[in-house]
Amino acid sequence: MPRHPTGIPGCANSQYIGGMAKIILLAGVSGSGKTTVGRLVAGRNGMLFYDADDFHPAENIEKMRAGQALDDTDRAGWLERINRFLLHKSAGGDLVLACSALKNTYREQLVAGLQAEICWVFLLGTYELIARRMAARSGHFMPPALLRSQFDIFEKPESGLLLDVSEPPELLAKRIENHYFLNKMKPNFTPEFGLAGLGVMGKSLARNLAGRGFRLALFNREIAGKEENVARDFLGQHPEVAAQGFNDLPRFVESLPRPRKILLMIPEPATNVFTDELLPLLAPGDIVIDGGNAHYLETERRAARAAARGVGWLGTGVSGGEQGALTGPSIMVGGAAADYRQVKIYLENIAAKGPGGRVCCTRVGADGAGHFVKMTHNGIEYAEMQLLAELYGFLRDVQGLKNSEMADLLETWRDPKTDSFLLEITVDILRKTENGQSLLDLVRDEASSKGTGSWAVEAAAGLGFPATMMAAALFARYVSAAKTERVQAAQLYPGNKPARTKMSLAVLKKAYQTARIINHHQGFGLLRAASEHYGWQLDLPAIARIWTNGCIIRSGLMNELPACLRKHPALLFHPKIQRRVRAGRGALARFCAEAARSGQAAPCFLAASDFLNSLATAAAPANLIQAQRDYFGAHTIRRTDDPAGKSFHVNWKN
Ligand code: NDP
Repeated sequence: MPRHPTGIPGCANSQYIGGMAKIILLAGVSGSGKTTVGRLVAGRNGMLFYDADDFHPAENIEKMRAGQALDDTDRAGWLERINRFLLHKSAGGDLVLACSALKNTYREQLVAGLQAEICWVFLLGTYELIARRMAARSGHFMPPALLRSQFDIFEKPESGLLLDVSEPPELLAKRIENHYFLNKMKPNFTPEFGLAGLGVMGKSLARNLAGRGFRLALFNREIAGKEENVARDFLGQHPEVAAQGFNDLPRFVESLPRPRKILLMIPEPATNVFTDELLPLLAPGDIVIDGGNAHYLETERRAARAAARGVGWLGTGVSGGEQGALTGPSIMVGGAAADYRQVKIYLENIAAKGPGGRVCCTRVGADGAGHFVKMTHNGIEYAEMQLLAELYGFLRDVQGLKNSEMADLLETWRDPKTDSFLLEITVDILRKTENGQSLLDLVRDEASSKGTGSWAVEAAAGLGFPATMMAAALFARYVSAAKTERVQAAQLYPGNKPARTKMSLAVLKKAYQTARIINHHQGFGLLRAASEHYGWQLDLPAIARIWTNGCIIRSGLMNELPACLRKHPALLFHPKIQRRVRAGRGALARFCAEAARSGQAAPCFLAASDFLNSLATAAAPANLIQAQRDYFGAHTIRRTDDPAGKSFHVNWKN
């Protein structure tokens, strides 16, 4: 039978919504700390506490003691017993139950028929961390060896409050209280973090922050007849978000305690107008996190304006799209270290976790560094997408594959070396049908862009860095957008029709892998060039690490890069990468030759192959360029037979 409950039923702190009892269900694998946290929450809020372990029949306990994992049948009776108990007890008041509840079906069984406010809390952590904790505890019947089986069957919940067990129990209890106890309509609700701009990204980030137990103030502008009560409506749709909504900027700012922390999710160039309105309302010590895609030089100007008022400005890249913002984006922060320290608890809590549970959020450097890193991320992303588009074009037009056949092929490429988020979504896209027809075939072939790709290419040009693949990808989008011209040209130059030659798919895969390595070499090279130029001291392995999850360019290759970059910041010179590129160079050349011969455009693959060829040319033909420049412009040359490296002007006419 249950052990002694904690808390006093019916005490003044007890919360009832419409007369219904509140049941906090703390779930997680054994060793996640649910009993400790549950007792804390119950004790501090006058609730009864129960531990689901106390409901196991003796046979279950013996089985676990003997090192055998329970199966669905073993758990069925146990869950039914707890459910009956909850049905009875919930009539008497609020309670907290700690229960592993590893599968969705178990969760449904637990709460079946309950007339209560059900509040799910999931305590999540890495296997390594929880295994360490289990090894350190004593007196529990569950042997540490059974932990793996619990991780194996645990189904990640779609909703509920998700908490990270690496935080102390007191903080976790506070988060649960913030999330489930504070009545946001009460006048004493005090938000701790502000978010302005409830568009696609802002809404997802607000839900993510609230899901971590943070109390929010949310602002969206009001445009009569167009954008009305956006924040209020959002909160109506998401009652679980502990927040106050505002359409009045001064009231939003006033609602936050000082020093204020405000995240902006507003697109360019509107951020300019918004900054003009926001800055005068802020006080010294307040911190603004600009999470939109701003140009890094614009960020530096805004940071200087903010600094003049004593306000901190963190230009922050957020990657992962709508879904990533909701479940864990990758976050790249630029600005003062002291300002970052004040907001990192919010940003690091909502960020994705990479391999080993490490958080995909860091301060990458000062000033505009965060937005430069995000811009470069997008430049790499442009080339990664273009490589896949060129592969698709080749498979469709030269190899004659159907979309479903391509999906089957690319599915087999999803091994640790080749897999990526972009490859994964490409397979899904290739498989998508509507009324029996491939939906991709109905999508217009004109790519658009929002600016970060062109910023990256401009920045690379300004820094004198050859980011040829992102440039090729950007210009490929521009060519695609010129549809009318393309249709005309296709008539004028019918010879461009592909020759439908067959090529080994293994060669194709090697070419793709090699081009991707070169793309990453260039991307990190651009970061290195900017770091040297601006004195940012960018930590390339740390940047690769925060790109291992949450962001659009997460991939198996990216998982390897933190270690590679620690050894050699120029990837193509790393011994392991060298071996791979040497093995793939021939395939890349063959693919490029085949594409060119077939009249099939493959600008990004060609840029990769050409970059490698250029880099691997000890004696470049640039001596002729120098001679021509000196000939017509007296730009001078330096001679190979002059060790002093002096400059000479030559009369080139014999
Ligand atoms: P949306 O267009 O969906 O939302 C923009 C938000 O900004 C809306 O709430 C809008 O308010 C508000 N806004 C626009 N102009 C003003 C203004 N003058 N004053 C106050 N508020 C204003 O954009 P996203 O959420 O997609 O993007 C937000 C930022 O995040 C952008 O910088 C974008 O580049 C970046 N980003 C987007 C990603 C994505 O996948 N969508 C991924 C990563 C970054 P209203 O509703 O009234 O129009």
